[in-house]
Amino acid sequence: MMFLTIISKNGDFVFKMLTMTAIYPFTAVVGQERMKRALVLNAVNPRIGGVLIRGERGTAKSTAARALAALLPTVETFSDCRFGCDPNRPATWCTECREKSNNGDQRKVEMLPTPFVNLPVSATEDRVVGTLDIEKAIQKGERHFEPGVLADANRGLLYIDEVNLLDDHVVDLLLDSAAMGMNIVEREGISFSHPSRFILVGTMNPEEGDLRPQLLDRFALSVDIRGIQDTHERVLIMERHLAYEEDPESFREQWLPKEQELSKQITQARKLLPNVQYSSKNMVDIAKLSTSLQVDGHRSDLVILKTARAHAAFESRKAITGRDISLAAELAYPHRIKRGPFQQSEISAEELSEKIEELAGGSADGESEVGEGSEQSGTEVGENGDKKKQS
Ligand SMILES: [Zn+2]
Repeated sequence: MMFLTIISKNGDFVFKMLTMTAIYPFTAVVGQERMKRALVLNAVNPRIGGVLIRGERGTAKSTAARALAALLPTVETFSDCRFGCDPNRPATWCTECREKSNNGDQRKVEMLPTPFVNLPVSATEDRVVGTLDIEKAIQKGERHFEPGVLADANRGLLYIDEVNLLDDHVVDLLLDSAAMGMNIVEREGISFSHPSRFILVGTMNPEEGDLRPQLLDRFALSVDIRGIQDTHERVLIMERHLAYEEDPESFREQWLPKEQELSKQITQARKLLPNVQYSSKNMVDIAKLSTSLQVDGHRSDLVILKTARAHAAFESRKAITGRDISLAAELAYPHRIKRGPFQQSEISAEELSEKIEELAGGSADGESEVGEGSEQSGTEVGENGDKKKQS
């Protein structure tokens, strides 16, 4: 039996269920290496700030997002908390947990699967942030907070299909919360707050309208995906989907060792992440790279640094290299580079590492780390590097 990780304790979003249907394994998704890398690195560090996946229908976008949530480790939480507070991080607790702690309450702890929340396109502000019942507060002097999607998604993955069709204001709220890791609702002098840290995954089909540039820039990473052209890979997709349809249970069983391996790798990377070092030269490289490509704004620089650190941690390294930077930049730039009518917004990690070397201007002055990383990336960047980590 499998847990379907659409877990929600609250309101309309009660999907908490056990299901016999096994989820398609993440590691069985064919190709789309950039998308998988972007998702995995956000799982290593949800504070990177989410990923926007742009592409046509039927390109495994939702399958991959759902599959990622399913392989993430279980989360420890208080059994009686509606917001999934982490018992080990008191600083992030919700208003109710803080009160219970002040009262000295004894509390039970339980392990839950990583939540997966699928945000409906019709979602309103109230359903997203939750509501404070002011009537009750006035009449009975009780504070009553009805949790919204941001509560359900805490410590999980929030998936927004067709984010470009969602109300701009709601997208704004979601991005705010994703950046802050906290949801604060205030009305008439009453306030309620709870943690809301989640991996934000938005998808859109650019043929159905664009996202405002301001909102676009606030997604940390983006990936443009299209159908796979390689015949062999397309055959592989057919074979795997047929096998899955025929017997989801045993298909999942068959992929379980790979799923567990990736899950373990993500868990270890999360632990290693705070210890991953970067140098001032790394920062200079990133800044030069962004200016040379005329990237809009400053946000990309920080995003690249965070993503590069997550990538180094994912490969069990304690320092970032030029290759980490190029692989991160490949995900941070596509939606931030000005696009001419005939210009592709995508740049490969290979081109980016060449650019880093070029900008470093051969000033080999002992700080050879980045140089070495770049050389390395010239030969094994991208697909191969990814396959190594995905397989
Ligand atoms: Zn709580």
